[in-house]
Amino acid sequence: MIDVEALKSLAAEDEAAWNALWQKTGEATLTQDEAQRALACLWRRTHLWIARHMPDYVADFPTCKRYPGILKPRRELYWTDHGTEGLTHEGTLAWFSSRRWPVNDPATDKPLLGPDGQPVLKLQGGSTHFVIALDGTVFYLIDLGDGAWHEPKRNRDSWSVEMVNALDLHEENGEWRTWCGRYPYVESYPPVELTLPWRGTRFMQPYDARQAVANIKLKRLVMAAQPGRLAPARMSQHSDWRTDKLDCGPLWPIAEINAAAFSTTPIAELAWVKALSAAGALPASLESPDSQALAAREGNLSSVVDPIASLREVQQALLVLGYALPLSGADGHLGPETAAAVRAFQADWTKAHPDDAIAADGIPGAETEKRLAAACTERGVTP
Ligand SMILES: [Zn+2]
Repeated sequence: MIDVEALKSLAAEDEAAWNALWQKTGEATLTQDEAQRALACLWRRTHLWIARHMPDYVADFPTCKRYPGILKPRRELYWTDHGTEGLTHEGTLAWFSSRRWPVNDPATDKPLLGPDGQPVLKLQGGSTHFVIALDGTVFYLIDLGDGAWHEPKRNRDSWSVEMVNALDLHEENGEWRTWCGRYPYVESYPPVELTLPWRGTRFMQPYDARQAVANIKLKRLVMAAQPGRLAPARMSQHSDWRTDKLDCGPLWPIAEINAAAFSTTPIAELAWVKALSAAGALPASLESPDSQALAAREGNLSSVVDPIASLREVQQALLVLGYALPLSGADGHLGPETAAAVRAFQADWTKAHPDDAIAADGIPGAETEKRLAAACTERGVTP
C-alpha cells in the first residue's frame, strides 16, 4: 500500500532533487551518492505519481511481484530492454501492480467462476524494475536489490526496463490495430513498415526519441549507483533470449543506445540523438489517454491468461507429482532447484507421451503448465 501522506511531505524536495540529478545524468557522470539519491527520489515520485494519477491502485503498489534474493549472488548482471505491447504507461503500470485480475476459462473463453459464483481472481503478468513512458518519464517499481519477473531465462541475473510501445501493428477493415484493439496513435506515431519483416511482423510503432534518451540516462544512473555490475557485453533486449519475442524490435536503436550509455559524451551532443529529435515526427507532448481507453486496455489485459501465470502453482503441481523442492518449496521464485524439477518433469512427460513431446528447457511456460495440469489429472492428484 502506498503511504500517500508520507510521500506528499517529500514531494517538493524530491521533485527538485530529481530534476537536477536527472538533468546532470545526461551531461556528466553522477557520483555514487548522487545516483543513489536520484534513485530514492525516483522511487518515491513514481509511487506518488501512481497515487495521484491512478488513485484506485494505491493498494496495489509497491508491487508484490518483486523477488528478494532471486538475483544471482554475483556482481555482474545483465540488463534487458523490453517493449510492453501496450499503449499507455498507466496500462503498463496496472499490469505490473499487485492487482488480481479475473481469469478466463480457456475452454469457453468466458471468465472462470469460483464455487461462490464470483469470478476467480489471480495474480497475473510479470514485473519489471523500470518502465519508460512514451514521453520519457521513468517509473521505478522494483528495487535494484530484488529480482523482477520479466523473462524466465534472465530473471535471476538481469535488471529490466519496459519501453511503452505497442510493437506489432496491423491493418484491419481500414483501421490500424494492435493485438488488443484499435491503435490510437496513427498521427503521432505513424506505423512504420519494416524493410525486412521482423519475426513475421511488417508494421511496428516507432519509439519516441525521449524514450531513447531516458533509456540512456537510466542506464547511466544505475551504473553510477551500482558501479561495476553492468558491462557492454551484457546489455540485451528480450528478443535476444527468445525467438518468439518481438521486443524491442528493429526500430529500437539498441546498439547506439548502449554505446551512449557507456560513453561520457553529453547526450545532447550525440549525433544520432540530434538527428532523431530533428526528424520532426515526434510530438512535443503526448496527450494523456482518456480513462475509457485505459479501461478498455485493462479489460483486454484481464482477458489474457499469462503464460507463466503463477510460479507458485507450478511448484505446487511439481510437488504433488513427486518432484522434490527441498530448498525452495513453493516459494514462487524460479531458482535452480525449480528449473531442474521443471526440466525433469518435461523429460518425464515426453518419455511417457512421445506423441506430445515438449522441450526439456526448464522453463515453466504455458506449454509446460498445460502438461502439469494434465499429469495431475492423469494421476488423480490436486496441487
Ligand atoms: Zn519483453
